[in-house]
Amino acid sequence: MDRISVSDRLSLRAQIALATMILCVLLVAAGSLAAALIGQRKTGELIGRELAELAASMADRLDRGMFERYREIGIIADLETLQPVWQTEPAVLRRTLEHLQASFPDYAWIGFADADGTVRAATRGMLDGASVAKRPWFASGLAGPFIGDVHEAVLLAGLLGPRTGREPFRFVDVAYPVHGADGAVIGVLGAHLSWDWAEETRRAVLAVNEHFTGAEILVLDSEGRVLLGPNTGARLLDAAQLARVQAQPGGMGLLEGQQAGWLTGYAVAGGYRSYPGLGWIVLARQPAAIASQPVRDLAQAILLVGFGLSLLGGLAAWILAGRLTRPVRQLTAEAERIGRDDHVHTLPRLGGAREVVLLSRALRSLLRRLGLAEEKLQEAEREIDHQAEETRELSADLERLRRLAETDPLTGLLNRRAFLDAAARQVAYARRYDRALAVVVADIDHFKAVNDRHGHAAGDVAIRAVAGRLQQAARDSDLVARFGGEEFVVLLMESDIAAAVSYAERVRGAIGASPVDLGTDGNGRAAAVTLTVSLGCTVLGQDDRDVQDAIDRADGALYAAKAAGRNRVRISVAERNAAE
Ligand code: GH3
Ligand code: MG
Ligand code: MG
Repeated sequence: MDRISVSDRLSLRAQIALATMILCVLLVAAGSLAAALIGQRKTGELIGRELAELAASMADRLDRGMFERYREIGIIADLETLQPVWQTEPAVLRRTLEHLQASFPDYAWIGFADADGTVRAATRGMLDGASVAKRPWFASGLAGPFIGDVHEAVLLAGLLGPRTGREPFRFVDVAYPVHGADGAVIGVLGAHLSWDWAEETRRAVLAVNEHFTGAEILVLDSEGRVLLGPNTGARLLDAAQLARVQAQPGGMGLLEGQQAGWLTGYAVAGGYRSYPGLGWIVLARQPAAIASQPVRDLAQAILLVGFGLSLLGGLAAWILAGRLTRPVRQLTAEAERIGRDDHVHTLPRLGGAREVVLLSRALRSLLRRLGLAEEKLQEAEREIDHQAEETRELSADLERLRRLAETDPLTGLLNRRAFLDAAARQVAYARRYDRALAVVVADIDHFKAVNDRHGHAAGDVAIRAVAGRLQQAARDSDLVARFGGEEFVVLLMESDIAAAVSYAERVRGAIGASPVDLGTDGNGRAAAVTLTVSLGCTVLGQDDRDVQDAIDRADGALYAAKAAGRNRVRISVAERNAAE
């Protein structure tokens, strides 16, 4: 199993900040996407409308221009002052026509043909005398005012000289019947308007609409073929589009489903006043990429600002989360302190969110219960300590009592009973392991006299002095006891009779060597007495029933020492021992 250390874990604070930041970024991304989509549609509509207006202004200009030419030709044809001139004075007529051409240079040709189609007079004398009987404008012009759609030059192409541009000469025809004084038609006044006029108009319209970067204007005829624009003659609109565009005369709008990559507005040129219009369709279009650039810029700006705001949001969340989680951190620190420190048993009351307040309250009550339990435990421990102390005291008392029971109160030596108990164990041991044991019995000489002369208390001092000497001469493992009065018994471990005599002599020498200081007597005089002792020695015999037998034998030796004059050592050994 993988061990996950605490430091690998994200803090609550970091999680909140991170989640907020991610949320912000997602919202910003969604927001800018929505803004981009809505913006694209809205600006599409907006720019489409503007493009349609551009197309409409182009259509309007074309219509007005056409109306001007149509009216001009009509006025000339109906001019009464020219009545006498039409058929009789070609030179005057030509001058008049050239004058008209000079007023509007896009007239490529203006001429008058009489009723049989022979050109009577024309600008610059072009086609003079030629027959135009087969030209549609003439045929139609005989019947009434005529406007012909754009077409390439047929008769004039050669006469107008070489064309500088790449396109052939193209014209729009205007024709009016000319009436004689009797009202009968005497001929047709016709004009060829150079299509370059439309090109200039387009340039002029585009020039005042420079803000439409990359914009194009096209003019189509009523069947959707290009009259002005790239791919002249190509059919740009399909039947469905054509039907939709032409649904209302003079209509305009956003052309949907137009070539991909373009945003296209259209307007139908519906004529102007007496000019009925030729059903031209004007398209104004702009590359969609350029049209939607502001939207993309906007989305980018929203994204940029949004990411900035997300960062700020994350920062704010970090700070806020820090404030929110502070009580938890405080609680943790306090809990840790309680864990480490024996003397802290409560948490401070914490403020903050309701959960924090509730948690701190719950922890406080938990700690109170813990404290209570701890107090009870400590009480029990104190009780146990107290009992243990009592037990110790009792056993010490017992020990004291035991020692008291075993000790002679005057000298601190073993008393008779304690000596006999211990000696019995030593005898058993010595028997089992075949070890030697010696018994020495001592009695102070003429002690009654000490008592009599110095008093009973002084006698006690003397007894203690002798006891001290006996104890000093013995080893720690030996048993020294007072058997009553001024009689002592000593059990010497690992000792044969020689060792016993050596011990006895050392004691006797030590006691006889220095007087015992008895303190002051009844009259306040300092007193001292030189004591002597008699000692009897023996060793544990094989036939001895117990230590008492050996004591009795040593006692016998002591009696012998007394009898021999006191202040001496006598031995007595069992018969079998003596034999050895
Ligand atoms: P001997 O040389 O024959 O031993 O003569 P002795 O005077 O020492 O005779 P004995 O041993 O019979 O005398 C013991 C005396 O010791 C008797 C008693 O008055 C005295 N005595 C016994 N116990 C004590 C005691 O605890 N303190 C004092 N001060 N005297 C004691
Ligand atoms: Mg005595
Ligand atoms: Mg005695």
